[in-house]
Amino acid sequence: MINKASILALVICLFLVLLSPGLVQAQGKLTVIDTSAQPEFPTRLIFNLAAESDVNITDIRLHYTIERTSFAQVTSEVYIDFLPSTIVHIKWTWDMRKIGGLPPGSNMEYWWTVEDSQGDKVETAPVEIKFEDTRYSWRSSTEGEITIYWYEGEESFAQELMEAAQQALDKLAEDTGAHLEKPAELYIYANTQDLQGAMIHAREWTGGAAFTRYGIIAIGITPNSVNWGKRAIAHELAHLVTHQMTLNPYNELPTWLNEGLAMYTEGPLEPEYIAFLTKAIAEGNLISVRSLSSPFSAHTEQSILSYAQSHSLVYFLIDEYGQSQMLELLNTFREGSSYDAALEKVYGFDMDGLNTLWRDYISAPAQQPGERQVRSAPTSLPAVLTTGRIVSSELPVGSWTWRQGW
Ligand SMILES: [Zn+2]
Repeated sequence: MINKASILALVICLFLVLLSPGLVQAQGKLTVIDTSAQPEFPTRLIFNLAAESDVNITDIRLHYTIERTSFAQVTSEVYIDFLPSTIVHIKWTWDMRKIGGLPPGSNMEYWWTVEDSQGDKVETAPVEIKFEDTRYSWRSSTEGEITIYWYEGEESFAQELMEAAQQALDKLAEDTGAHLEKPAELYIYANTQDLQGAMIHAREWTGGAAFTRYGIIAIGITPNSVNWGKRAIAHELAHLVTHQMTLNPYNELPTWLNEGLAMYTEGPLEPEYIAFLTKAIAEGNLISVRSLSSPFSAHTEQSILSYAQSHSLVYFLIDEYGQSQMLELLNTFREGSSYDAALEKVYGFDMDGLNTLWRDYISAPAQQPGERQVRSAPTSLPAVLTTGRIVSSELPVGSWTWRQGW
């Protein structure tokens, strides 16, 4: 028999449990005395728990969630291995080397459940933590959806980068209708070495990384590489925008569109890219749109040409068909459309049709001097390469996008 009084008592108990912050005591003697988490960026996060009861504590679990875009909220559960006792002090180390690391500033939430041999159970309230790179004294500046964190250089240095970031978003919105749907955080390291020290598996050529699922970008920028840095910021911000605008469980963007939009956002194509594109046109060695829909070749020359062609393809679509069509294309991809079907729906041609039209477009002579410079690839490629850095090539590693440094 269930009577109303016992239901009311249960409701009140639940209410009290929900209200009590942090540490919670069960009806018996089981008590969580203390919990904490210490970040040791970038390699580990150490969780501590102290609990006691009048009988042996027999089961302890740590639960955590990481804040990032996904199709379902995932909660991880760690079964703690310990000797049953009436008083326990638990220390559990989350070794980031096993998961490839987390970006600086990533947010997570954790809580514990503890059970004793009488069946009493305690669940602590969730605690939010930010996995900060505490090795540096960060300053920050926020404008709109963008926050820049930096620790070396004057206010004007951060301001210059902020302006570049805002201009990139403006250009993207104006020409494609795409925009950030969630805030973005930019961590500006003072140089490549500092940046690589923030990563678990950095390559010696890594100059920056976009953690698209976290809305976080990390880049090493020195006073001498500001122009490169501004381009890198524009490029990676565009990746965040397109990721947020097209995320779906069924399909990803074709690589030429993803990279082409990022290159387009940087600005005019740089001379090195233009040279590769011009040469490929002259020699009849252009890569097909269908091939460019898959991940790019790791071979440097093919990679450069792939980026150059991607820029040119996006430029062609925006120049010929306009902003609203590009936005519709992104929205169509968000529905999980196949590559051919999306193009057919929005433009009336598939990948092969795009290939033909685009080749005609870049092969046609410019109508007026100075007009459509981008079109005959040679003069219009976005300007990504400068200052003696090696040509950019990105290798996607998990959710990371790598960018070649200098
Ligand atoms: Zn890219």
